[in-house]
Amino acid sequence: MPIYEFRCEVCGEIFERLMKMGEEFPPCPRCGESRVLKLPSLFGFQDAADFRAERERAILKRARDYLIDGKVGEARRFLSRAQEYVRTDRIRKLHDQLSQRKPVSGGYVSRTEVIIKKKK
Ligand SMILES: [Zn+2]
Repeated sequence: MPIYEFRCEVCGEIFERLMKMGEEFPPCPRCGESRVLKLPSLFGFQDAADFRAERERAILKRARDYLIDGKVGEARRFLSRAQEYVRTDRIRKLHDQLSQRKPVSGGYVSRTEVIIKKKK
C-alpha cells in the first residue's frame, strides 16, 4: 500500500497514512476534522522505512537552511513541529541541542554554526 501525506485544513496537522486506491481520506488525528488535503506525493515510496529516511533528510535540510540564515528559534520551532510526525534520533537530538543551546561536536549543528560564524 502506498503512503500518502495529508494536511488538516483546520489545525494544520500533517500526517501520513497507508491507503488503498479509492479509500476515503482519513480524518485529522489531532482535531478530528474531516477536511484534509492530500499533499502532492513527493516520494512514491512503497516502503515506510524509505519514506521516513527521506522525510528525515528533508527535515534536517530545512532546519539547516534556517540555521544558515541564523534563524535558530525558527529552526527549533520547526523541529519541534516536525517531531510530531517524524520521530527519529537525529531530529530529536538536533532539537534538543538547539533547545539547550549547548555547543556540540559533530553533527549538523556544529557544521551550520561554522557557517553562521563566517557570515558575521
Ligand atoms: Zn486538525
